[in-house]
Amino acid sequence: MSFSSFIPPQRTLMGPGPSDVSARVLSALSRPTIGHLDPSFVAMMDEVKLLLQYAFQTQNPYTIALSAPGSAGMEACFVNLVTPEDTVVVCRNGVFGARMIENVQRIGAKLVTVESDWGRAVEPQKLEDALKQHPEASIVAFVHAETSTGASSDAKTLCDIARQYDCLTIVDAVTSLGGSELKVDEWGIDAIYSGSQKCLSCVPGISPVSFSERAIEKLKARNVPVQSWFLDQSLVMGYWSGEGKRAYHHTAPVNSLYAMHESLLMLKEEGLENSWQRHKNMHQLLADGLADLDIEFIVPKSERLAQLNTIKIPHGLDDAQVRGYLLNEFNLEIGAGLGQFAGNAWRIGLMGFAARKENVALCLAALTEAINKFRK
Ligand SMILES: *Cc1c(COP(=O)(O)O)cnc(C)c1O
Repeated sequence: MSFSSFIPPQRTLMGPGPSDVSARVLSALSRPTIGHLDPSFVAMMDEVKLLLQYAFQTQNPYTIALSAPGSAGMEACFVNLVTPEDTVVVCRNGVFGARMIENVQRIGAKLVTVESDWGRAVEPQKLEDALKQHPEASIVAFVHAETSTGASSDAKTLCDIARQYDCLTIVDAVTSLGGSELKVDEWGIDAIYSGSQKCLSCVPGISPVSFSERAIEKLKARNVPVQSWFLDQSLVMGYWSGEGKRAYHHTAPVNSLYAMHESLLMLKEEGLENSWQRHKNMHQLLADGLADLDIEFIVPKSERLAQLNTIKIPHGLDDAQVRGYLLNEFNLEIGAGLGQFAGNAWRIGLMGFAARKENVALCLAALTEAINKFRK
């Protein structure tokens, strides 16, 4: 058997993530590797923290980039803040809410589930009802941007309700960060996690995380240690925030953090509000083109995410055949349906660097051709 270097095909990534990574970010990734405790590297980490505070709109000192994908960010929030004595209210309206439930169950805490329809926002009234019924609840968790369905929930209102009932909030912002309005401090979010490969358009494998003072207090007041050594933020803190002196915890993905720094810098240069607006504009452009093709959205207009468009597969088309055609003929990746929508929906991502006019045009042209070719 003979081996040679792996040269990936040049794709346009318009699925649920990873999204297109710009040449600028890829070039940052390829700079020389230095030590994870090198003073220059530590100085860059400090900038990553400041840039993440900007992206999250928070002053939380504990705002870091976890060395693992978004799923680990989720798990970090749950294992650090939830103890077996807690009652946790999880709002589920898609696949990622279901994973939150799994986290709570594995910790052995008491679970209260608030169910909303797939393809719809979490219903605030249902959360309020659940909290009235469960005054013992101490934590509320929900997904801001449900990537499995394309629905956006009203994080501000959900956090307001949680606060009225004296609960901490855990918010999944994997797909929202950088792509839609998100204000951690103003909305009173206590623990939030995201991912590098969605609207930040960085390489996969890093999870931005931020904890409020209240979350840090809860972590420090624990009388049972966090069950995961790697994700125990009281230990990770020594690496990301040791005053003047950083303690070794694990070897950070040095080059991936260069890439993260660069993508956050690009977001800062563009301006957060401008980035949110660009996602909206590209969504509108795509929605207009899809309407011309008589393709329908699954999510009602007022609850749609700009960065993740879930559409019904037009009648008479085969899911895998069309996606395969787009990939092979156009080097274009769009996402399949997930969970309840498997086989009957496509997910078109307009995330970060992928939210550009030429991508929208390519996607519409490719879909038009596939429809004409394959529709029975
Ligand atoms: C992608 C995603 C995750 C998981 O992130 P990974 O980096 O794939 O582990 C979690 N939540 C949401 C909403 C996501 O879109």
